[in-house]
Amino acid sequence: MKTIMQNTEEAEPPNSRLTLKPIATRKTSPLHLASVFPTNSQTDIFRKRFYPDASMPDWQDWHWQLRNRITEVKQLEKIIRLTDDERKAIGEGTDALPLSITPYYASLLAPEDPSQPIRRSVVPVSDEHIHSPGEAEDPLGEDNDCAVPGLIHRYPDRVLFLVTNFCSNYCRYCTRSRLVGHEGKYPFSIEQWKKAINYIEATPSIRDVLLSGGDPLTLSDDKLDWLLSQLRHIPHVEMIRIGTKVPMVLPQRITPALVKMLKRHHPLWMSIHCTHPIEHTLEVKKACERLANAGIPLGSQTVLLKGINDNIETMKQLVHSLLRLRIKPYYLYQCDPIIGSAHFRTTVEKGLEIYQGLRGHTTGYAVPNYVIDAPGGGGKIPLLPQTVIGRDGNDILLRNYQGNIYRYPDQREISTDADIIHLRQ
Ligand code: SF4
Repeated sequence: MKTIMQNTEEAEPPNSRLTLKPIATRKTSPLHLASVFPTNSQTDIFRKRFYPDASMPDWQDWHWQLRNRITEVKQLEKIIRLTDDERKAIGEGTDALPLSITPYYASLLAPEDPSQPIRRSVVPVSDEHIHSPGEAEDPLGEDNDCAVPGLIHRYPDRVLFLVTNFCSNYCRYCTRSRLVGHEGKYPFSIEQWKKAINYIEATPSIRDVLLSGGDPLTLSDDKLDWLLSQLRHIPHVEMIRIGTKVPMVLPQRITPALVKMLKRHHPLWMSIHCTHPIEHTLEVKKACERLANAGIPLGSQTVLLKGINDNIETMKQLVHSLLRLRIKPYYLYQCDPIIGSAHFRTTVEKGLEIYQGLRGHTTGYAVPNYVIDAPGGGGKIPLLPQTVIGRDGNDILLRNYQGNIYRYPDQREISTDADIIHLRQ
C-alpha cells in the first residue's frame, strides 16, 4: 500500500489542476471520436495503476463506472490511505448514508490528505454519526408536503419530483440522506412515477417541474426520455428542470445520445451540484460543453461547507471556473441541518463574508444567491448584507461593496392631498 501511494505521488501530485493535461486516446474513427472524452493525465495514471484491466473505452463508459463504484472499505483503502477515523466511520455506517464513489471521482481524491476538500465530501468520518441539537432527518419538512409519494408540492406553481433514490456518489452532507441509497426505505417505481404524473396533469397551477432524487441522470436514456415525454405532454408544464451532480462525478454519462434525447424536451434547464474547483477537469469541461451546446441553460448549486469551500478565495475560484464551464453560479446554500452535519456547517456570518467578498468584486454573473432553505419547510430565504442603511429626507442611503455610502434621490409616492398640494406649489 505504501509503495503504491508513494508511486502515485511521485508520478503526479494529487489534484493539481496544472497537471490535468489531455492525453491521447486510442486511435479511432472520426465518427467514434465524437463520443470519446479527453482524459486528464492524473486520472489516466490512476486508471492504469488501480484498474489495469480496464481499457480506455471501459473507463469512458458510464455503465462501467457505475458497475465499479467504490462501496466498501477494502476497495477504498487500496486507493487512499484511510485514517483510523475514516475506517471506523465506514464500518459503523451500515444504517447511514452508504459509501459510493465512482472510480473516476476517486482518481481526483488526495490519497494522503484526509482534509482534501473533495475527499471530505465523499469519505465518511465519525462526526457524521453525531446527532447535534437542531438537526433532523428531514430538516426541510419535505415529507410533510408530499402530494403523492415522491412528489413534493410546496409552492403553488412548481413541484419537486423525486424520481430515484440512487446516486453514483453519496455526498456526506446530503439533504436527502434519509432516502438516498437506502433500498426499500423510500421505494421508487414506474407506478409511483405514474401517480406523480397524474397529479401534475390534474393540477393546472403547476408550470415548473424539478426532477431530483437521488440523481435523475443515473436513469437510463429510455426511462428518462419516457418521463420527460410524459411531462412534456402536459400543456400547463412550461419548464422542466433536472437537479444533478452527475456532470461533476460521472461526466462520462453525458453522452451524445443523452444530450440528443434531452434536446427534444426543451425548455429544459439543469441545476448542477458543484462543490469545489478541483472537480473541474477536462472531462467535466467536455460534459458541460455538450450540455450547453444542446441549448440547456446550466446553473450551479453549491453547499457552503466548513473547511471545504468556506473561504473567499476558494469560492471565487469556484464561481470563475463555473462561468468558464458555461454554468451560471445560481445558489450558494447554507448547509441544511441534517443529522451528523455539524462538522460541515459553517456560520451564517462566514457565508455573508464570502458573499460580500464576491459581490462587487467580480462579474455580477459570478455571484450566486446565498440562501437558507428554512428548516420546517419555509422555502429558500435569501441572505443579504445590509445595503440600504437608511433615509435622509427623500434620499435613500446606500452602502456599496467597498463600504462607502451613497445617496439616491428616491421618488416619493404621492398618496395624500397634502402631497399633491405640495407638488402643485
Ligand atoms: S448527488 Fe445530490 S442527492 Fe445524491 S448524495 Fe449528493 S447531494 Fe444527495
